[in-house]
Amino acid sequence: MARFGKTGWRVPVTYGTAIAAAVACSGILITMLFLSISKIESSLPRFGFFAIREFHIAIRDVTHLRDMVSLAQAAPTSAASLDQLLAANDLVYVRFERVDGSGTSREIPAYAAIVPRVNDSVTRIDALIAAGLPLDADRLKEMGLELDQIVARMNDEYYKFGEQVNADLYASEISLNRFNYQIAFALAILSLLAIGTAVLLIGRRETIKKLEFLAWRDATTGLKNRAWMSANRDDLLDQAKLAGKQLHLYLIDLDHFKNVNDTFGHHVGDLLLKAVAEILQLIERPGDVFAVRLGGDEFAIIEIGVAHSAEKALGNRLREQLNGFAELEGHQVRVGASIGMASFPEHGADISTLMRNADSALYAAKAQGRADLVTFSPAILSQIDVQLGEEAAIKRALNCDEFFLVWQPQFELATGRMTGAEALVRWRDPISGAIRPPMTFIPTAERSDLILELDKLVLSKACRQAAQWLPICPEDFVCSVNVSGKSLQNDVYFTHLVEVLRQTALPASRLQLEITEGVFVQNSRSALRILTAIRNIGVSLALDDFGSGYASFGYLADFNLDQLKIDRSFLSDLASSPKKQNVVRGIIALANSLSLTVVAEGVENEAQLDFLIAEQCHRAQGFFMSKPIEETVLTNHMIARSGRTRSAGKFKLSLSA
Ligand code: C2E
Ligand code: CA
Ligand code: CA
Repeated sequence: MARFGKTGWRVPVTYGTAIAAAVACSGILITMLFLSISKIESSLPRFGFFAIREFHIAIRDVTHLRDMVSLAQAAPTSAASLDQLLAANDLVYVRFERVDGSGTSREIPAYAAIVPRVNDSVTRIDALIAAGLPLDADRLKEMGLELDQIVARMNDEYYKFGEQVNADLYASEISLNRFNYQIAFALAILSLLAIGTAVLLIGRRETIKKLEFLAWRDATTGLKNRAWMSANRDDLLDQAKLAGKQLHLYLIDLDHFKNVNDTFGHHVGDLLLKAVAEILQLIERPGDVFAVRLGGDEFAIIEIGVAHSAEKALGNRLREQLNGFAELEGHQVRVGASIGMASFPEHGADISTLMRNADSALYAAKAQGRADLVTFSPAILSQIDVQLGEEAAIKRALNCDEFFLVWQPQFELATGRMTGAEALVRWRDPISGAIRPPMTFIPTAERSDLILELDKLVLSKACRQAAQWLPICPEDFVCSVNVSGKSLQNDVYFTHLVEVLRQTALPASRLQLEITEGVFVQNSRSALRILTAIRNIGVSLALDDFGSGYASFGYLADFNLDQLKIDRSFLSDLASSPKKQNVVRGIIALANSLSLTVVAEGVENEAQLDFLIAEQCHRAQGFFMSKPIEETVLTNHMIARSGRTRSAGKFKLSLSA
């Protein structure tokens, strides 16, 4: 299996970056705004408007004071002159106070020099007024001259600095400034709002992204999910159609995934799914190869636009990379995947047909013994029909009690004693009465889970019969029952076994279960645990068909078995094959060295039997001694044989015995 490891998805970290960018932008915006305000201001003429305006008023009032002084000169004794002079002087005083006290205006040096002179004049007129009527004519004249000079100077200054004075311009500049700051304020608020909006928009976008991820992605593996498949598959097919390309749909189903979960726990199961997802992600190519987890241990690959040879390459790559062993948290986990493939346009013009046909191809891959890639062909459909029909028939047969047992006796070669019998299942057709041998239905039952029911049924029937034989059978007589590896994957069979022994009161030592090497090859921990439990309650275990599988012998040393059954293929043409003789000798020696009873199966003639006796094989079973027989027949034999000992060599079981 190719690289295994962990895959995750990265959340783009744009939140902080986006806020920083928005703050920077509005900072630049505000700075530019303030710079542009001072630019407007500096482009306008500056005259110190405020001071000039007040100066304008002062000119008018000093002129007014001078005029009053001239009038008083003309009528120094008139009370009216005194009043007018007083009023004019008060006015000037006030004005000068204001002008003088304002720190906001720009200094006009010439004007500043006039202020003390005006102040001085005002003080002197105050003294004149305080002296009362008649007004001092000389002083009035002197004051008149001084005021004339001040007015003349003021007029000079006014025309020098204040000619262009315009109160409206001044007012406009003030309001321009006010508007500038109001706009800046509004823009600052707006940019704060913009930042806020940007933050909200980013948050919303990220939430949408996350939602999309959750909606279109599988949480465990990060692959696209079934919803994505449903939403996009038609578009992908349209895309292929428009471009005149092919579309290949691979449906992948992991083999024995349930065992991985049962044996190592769901955590390791999840790791396996992630490891598979990682392989599929490496196969993904944006735009034309898409990997999807359809749910559970089912995956899909959609590939667009590749010619047939290349498509084969992808299929082979999938098959190679998805079959092997994976190291997951220190556990060696066997991984296998069955793959079904259907192509557009060859195997279907629409996506549902392609899905259905790829699924049929997958079913065929599973039925062919798993870990394989099958490309859809119409022949598959009829095979599946047959398989489904068979499954339905087995189900019905289980319900209608159409299965029954026959028994094949086992003999001890040293004494010729019958030491046991193997229960072999048969199926009687209720209509024709024809009897079907197990090889015509066991494989179908094993492909589906019907074998679990069948094994339980056989066990019940066998134990019930074995218990009935107890009073008449030899003391060490053991009944053997075949059990499929599938039944040892969980506790159901074991629980049933305990219950059946209790119900039938059959001592556990009178029962032997026959298992095959496959149980050890799959290295399923639950199977080993259950086998140990079976042995612990006193039921013995025989290894069936020994030598026919591909197992290494390591498990023989690791696991405590009771019996080895030499596969009957080694017995056929034994006489003419020195090699086979050597193999049989070897197996007998191996069994002896491990203190196991060794049984030869499929003894069909005397020569084979003689060879086995000579090689000190412990036991034998075969048509030469007896074909599998019905219960009543075996019962009769037991009754007839009880109390008699047979001489060695006379093993044949016949009705007359
Ligand atoms: P097996 O466990 O190896 O059973 C022995 C098979 O060899 C039986 O075939 C038996 O009839 C046949 N046989 C016995 N002696 C001879 C002989 O001298 N020559 C030849 N050519 N054949 C001989 P059967 O009954 O057809 O069973 C076939 C296989 O079906 C069994 O092989 C066993 O693997 C499976 N099977 C039978 N009954 C059950 C059952 O109740 N449960 C399960 N899971 N499998 C069963
Ligand atoms: Ca057997
Ligand atoms: Ca066998």
